[in-house]
Amino acid sequence: MLRVAVVGSGPSGVYTAQGLVQQTRVPGVRVHVLDRLPCPYGLVRYGVAPDHEKIKSLQNNLRDVLTDERITFVGNVAAGAPGPAPAQLLELYHAVVYCVGASRDRSLGIPGEELPGSHSATDFVSWYSAHPDAPEADFTGPALTARSAVVIGVGNVAVDVARILARGADELRPTDVPQGALGVLAGSAVRDVHMVGRRGPSQARFTTKELRELGSLPSAAVVVDPAELALDPVYGSAAAAAALPVVRRRNLEVLRGWAADGAREAERRIRLRFFLRPVELLERGGRVAAVRFERTAPDGDGGVRGTGSYEDVPAQLVLRAVGYRGEPLPGLPFDDRAGTVPHTAGRVLRDGLPSPGEYVAGWIKRGPTGVIGTNRPCARETVESLLADAPELAGRPVADDPVARLRAAGHRPVPWPGWLAIEAAEAALGASLGRRTVKIPDWDGLLAAAHGPV
Ligand SMILES: Cc1cc2nc3c(=O)[nH]c(=O)nc-3n(C[C@H](O)[C@H](O)[C@H](O)COP(=O)(O)OP(=O)(O)OC[C@H]3O[C@@H](n4cnc5c(N)ncnc54)[C@H](O)[C@@H]3O)c2cc1C
Repeated sequence: MLRVAVVGSGPSGVYTAQGLVQQTRVPGVRVHVLDRLPCPYGLVRYGVAPDHEKIKSLQNNLRDVLTDERITFVGNVAAGAPGPAPAQLLELYHAVVYCVGASRDRSLGIPGEELPGSHSATDFVSWYSAHPDAPEADFTGPALTARSAVVIGVGNVAVDVARILARGADELRPTDVPQGALGVLAGSAVRDVHMVGRRGPSQARFTTKELRELGSLPSAAVVVDPAELALDPVYGSAAAAAALPVVRRRNLEVLRGWAADGAREAERRIRLRFFLRPVELLERGGRVAAVRFERTAPDGDGGVRGTGSYEDVPAQLVLRAVGYRGEPLPGLPFDDRAGTVPHTAGRVLRDGLPSPGEYVAGWIKRGPTGVIGTNRPCARETVESLLADAPELAGRPVADDPVARLRAAGHRPVPWPGWLAIEAAEAALGASLGRRTVKIPDWDGLLAAAHGPV
């Protein structure tokens, strides 16, 4: 029997576990899927926006995999620290596949970034997604008394946070947003959400479906300045637009339509801005009050250059959505520049050589790009490498009962029934509030539901 630990129960971890048990080349593979949280599904639970119910429902597909009898979910065990180090995991399992994602945010590196009222979109997403490590206090105070918010970035995460800020309470109540966040968002004073990119509209990274959705929000209107769109050389050239990748061409068409129609009257406005590079966050009364941008222009090489002309956009709330980054896991090699674990075809490299029994998949392997489905071929490649190595790996003696060993070492794993108990508690919480399922946002609440009151 080949015993494998998959560390991380997001899409890449679940697809890796599925690939390992569903193949026929190596019989008798058993997989433990460990997660530092007592809840499975990674960013599908804690990243995908709560109002995107169809994508959220992918959790049901991941659940089907995790209930396979050859797969065991082991929540509340953080590999590296404070949980078992990589070397200890190799004493418990023949192979370990790290699928720990890339949860750290990138910073802008500009003055004022640390001012109160300035946050990473990562923290904001974690807060409205009820991640138990979310810095709740940051958003319950003055932040949402802001009337004007700036979202820096023009990718899908920027679109998500702009949309959540622009939605009314009635639109969020049917989702699983935690009760505290719902209350804060319901009372939000935000009227203008500026979503700002340093490059042109033809280079924005959002996908057309997500962009178009902004135009269908009941209580918000999209504002696009045709003069700003026209700064993009592609905008005025049918031939250049035709040569764009299809998503970018469609994005331009959507933006062109909004610019032509003009904005309708609405309670809130989402202002899409381009060719503006943030240079400083300005302070008043100890908090962020505005973002200073430098106007940029295409440099003719696919990038942009500064023009020396500046614009201050008022903002009492600033969310930077400029990308995610992997975090080093103690005891595992890490490429600090790339923010990933060095590997070849999913085999972890130590000092440039494949480390027997250690693998990676998902965002920590290839960086934080792609949609959920992109993790499937990524996991497949890693599974192929592991299966090819299986004959050498399986000969090594490992623990009979790794979970018992973890317990003996003082860890308190949450097994699958513990997760089911959390789900039941969230359904009961929702019912008590007259809502559907409502997520539990704190460690104590999650662990009390999983283990029973302490
Ligand atoms: C805000 C946001 C919204 C998104 N929305 C969409 C969308 O709508 N549609 C779409 O297709 N894609 C979306 N994505 C992308 C998608 O979520 C990712 O492609 C996918 O989740 C990456 O999978 P992963 O398994 O590599 O990482 P993750 O999903 O991050 O899973 C990593 C798991 O590892 C666990 N972990 C971390 N460290 C440890 C440790 N030391 N020990 C044990 N466990 C650990 C974490 O708790 C987590 O469960 C979104 C991403 C973000 C950030």
